Amino acid sequence: MDLGLDGRVAVVTGGSSGIGLATARLLLAEGCRVAICGRDPDRLAGAEAALGAGDHLLAQTGDVRRPEAMQALAAAVEARFGRCDLLVNNAGQGRVSTFAETNDEDWRAEFELKLFSQIHPVRAFLPMLRAGMGAVVVVNALLALQPEPHMVCTSAARASVQSLAKSLSVELAPKVRVNAILLGLVESGQWQRRFEARADPGQTRADWFAALAARKGIPLGRLGTQEEAARAIAFLGAPAASYITGAALEVSGGLSRHI
Ligand code: NDP
Repeated sequence: MDLGLDGRVAVVTGGSSGIGLATARLLLAEGCRVAICGRDPDRLAGAEAALGAGDHLLAQTGDVRRPEAMQALAAAVEARFGRCDLLVNNAGQGRVSTFAETNDEDWRAEFELKLFSQIHPVRAFLPMLRAGMGAVVVVNALLALQPEPHMVCTSAARASVQSLAKSLSVELAPKVRVNAILLGLVESGQWQRRFEARADPGQTRADWFAALAARKGIPLGRLGTQEEAARAIAFLGAPAASYITGAALEVSGGLSRHI
């Protein structure tokens, strides 16, 4: 199947690591010109070097929580590529804390990150998205539908993001499609950092990840890869998915328990 991405322009927030980096790599391979952003300039430069895409890639530092940073990114994309067909709102991270451990500042920070990492990029890129192919992919988590008490504020914020995605899919139609992926557990920077901070330093990486998959009861028996998440993102964002909007695609190895 041809996804129809050749010659398109895509923006991936948080494209300097993990799922965002894998998505940028896949979109470049599909013939897109791609822009990525992240806060850490060194990590961004490393991603730019790893992608090795020359002038098909634009890498610009920017925090998705800052509206002016997203406006500046949109201006740079317009100046370099002249258009934007696909926006992948991927930047972010989860917060592990129970209700008892979460103070007001944590709640505010979590909702700010989760909601404004969608709001600011959509607002900044909307004029170009409306003029182009017009697709937004919201990288969300299964936590939106299946909250976990040990990630209390992330779960609540993820549910809000899902609500926002659904509203946007109606308000921005028919010019712009808006879909979400709901991730379970994907091997990436976040899990690598948790592995590095493991209680038993003697435990191997393979054993640590296998134990995690078993503990979580993932039917497919392992965590997902960044590339598996990227393929779902690319499909939902591509012309191949032209009649799909307002959808939520689970990429979780079967972790959900609802029908
Ligand atoms: P990584 O930590 O590997 O990558 C996160 C990326 O987002 C980095 O490029 C990071 O760069 C960037 N980022 C984080 N905060 C901001 C910000 N405020 N502004 C701009 N860029 C930012 O994580 P993953 O690849 O695992 O996660 C990608 C997305 O998927 C995240 O939103 C995450 O919450 C979500 N997710 C992941 C799951 C998993 O199991 N991996 C499960 C469910 C959801 P920098 O730090 O330099 O800004």
